[in-house]
Amino acid sequence: MSTERSGFSYRNEELICDSVPVRAIAEAVGTPAYVYSSRQILSRFRAFDRAFGAYPHLICYAVKANANLGILRLLARQKSGFDIVSGGELFRVLQAGGKASRTVFSGVGKTAGEMDEALRAGILLFNCESESELQLLSERAARLRQKAPVALRVNPHVDAATHPYIATGLTEHKFGIEMAAAEDLYRRAQGWPGLRLIGLSCHIGSQIADLAPFAEAVVKLVEMAERLRREGMVVEYLDAGGGLAVAYQPGDSPPSIRDYGRRILACVRGSGLKLLVEPGRALVAEAGILLTRVVRAKITGRKRFIVVDAAMNDLLRPSLYGAYHEVRPVIRNRREQVVADLVGPVCESGDFFARGRRLPAVEADDLLAILTAGAYGFVLSSNYNARPRPPEVLVAGRRWRLARRRETLRDLVRGEIRSTSRVR
Ligand SMILES: *Cc1c(COP(=O)(O)O)cnc(C)c1O
Repeated sequence: MSTERSGFSYRNEELICDSVPVRAIAEAVGTPAYVYSSRQILSRFRAFDRAFGAYPHLICYAVKANANLGILRLLARQKSGFDIVSGGELFRVLQAGGKASRTVFSGVGKTAGEMDEALRAGILLFNCESESELQLLSERAARLRQKAPVALRVNPHVDAATHPYIATGLTEHKFGIEMAAAEDLYRRAQGWPGLRLIGLSCHIGSQIADLAPFAEAVVKLVEMAERLRREGMVVEYLDAGGGLAVAYQPGDSPPSIRDYGRRILACVRGSGLKLLVEPGRALVAEAGILLTRVVRAKITGRKRFIVVDAAMNDLLRPSLYGAYHEVRPVIRNRREQVVADLVGPVCESGDFFARGRRLPAVEADDLLAILTAGAYGFVLSSNYNARPRPPEVLVAGRRWRLARRRETLRDLVRGEIRSTSRVR
C-alpha cells in the first residue's frame, strides 16, 4: 500500500489512519463507514499550492469529489478556492465557511435560479459552456445590476485517454465550446450588458495519468488568450480544470502533483494569466477508505463470494465504471488467501467491489477496508434498497470525529407523504 501518500498504514498488523486504529472507529460508529485522513488531504492541498510556487494561482477544490462540510471547512481554512457545479454545492461551500470570492461555477446546465444565487453571493467566475447560457447569464446579471465575471469553457479537443464516462475534452462530449466558436463568442459577447469576460477555462476529463494532454490543452488556451489580448480584449484568468489521476491499483504510478504543477507552469509562465486549477480526486481520493464488515462467506457452484455490509449504494464506482479498489484487512492475522468476489447485499448482480480477486480468507465479522474511496464515494451514495447511508469520520492525527452521522430509519422516510386523504 502506498502508505505515505494515503494516510493509511499498518502498525502491529493493524490498519491505522494517521495514528488512529481503524478498528476503534468501527467499534465506535459501526460499519459501513467512510474514514478520511485530514492530514493527508492537507498535505495534498499544500503540495498543489507549492507546485505553483510564487506564480499567481488559486487551487479551487472540485466540491463534487467529496462535499462533506468537514472537508470543505478543512480546505477553507487553508484559503482554498472551490469549484462548484450546482447551487447546492454553493450552499455547502458557504455553510463550511468557504468564500464566494474564491469560488468558480462550472457545468452545462446552470439554471436562472442558480445563476442568481451565485451572482448574489458574489462568486469569482462563471465558467460558461454555451452561447445560450451566456445570454441567460447576461440577462440575469443585468437584472441584478451586476456584471457577471465570466470565463468561456473551451473544449480544446485533446484526447485524455481515460474512461469514456469521465473524458470530457473531445468535441463529441457535451462539455465546453469548440475552440473556434469560443474565440468568436468571446469577441461577440464583449458588449453584452451583464457580462465581464475575463478568462478562458477547460477541463479535459478525470483520472488522467499522462501530463501531455494537460499541457496541450493549456497551450491552446494560452495561445487563444494571446490572440484575444492582441485585439484589445481583457483575458485575466486561465482555468486549467482538474483531472489529475491517483493510484487505485498497486502498479499505478500517476504523475506527482509537483510534476503536474511544473508542466502547467511551463505553459503559462510569461503569459501573465492568473492560474486556476480544479483538482478533486487528487486531493481526497487516497485520503479515504470505506470500512466494512464481513457478513458471511458463500460458495455457489465453483464460485466463492464474500458478502460484506457495504454495497453499491455506499460506493458506486465499481458498479458504475468497473473501477478497481484495493481491499485490505483491518487486522492482518490470516495468512491464507482465497480467490473470491467481494459483494454487497443489494439485489443487483452489479453490486460488487471486487471480482475474482485474491483476498484474505476472512470470516464473518472480520473488518475490511476498501481503499482510495475518498473521492466520488459518499457523494454518489444513495438509499437504494432502503439502506441508510453510512457515517463519515474525519481523522486528524491522534484524534477523530464524526463528520456526518449514520442515517437512521427515520431519515429514510423523512419528506415522504403517506396520507392520501387530501387530494388536490
Ligand atoms: C469533475 C470536475 C473537476 C474535478 O475533476 P477531478 O478528476 O476529480 O480532479 C474539475 N473541474 C470540473 C469542471 C469538473 O467537472
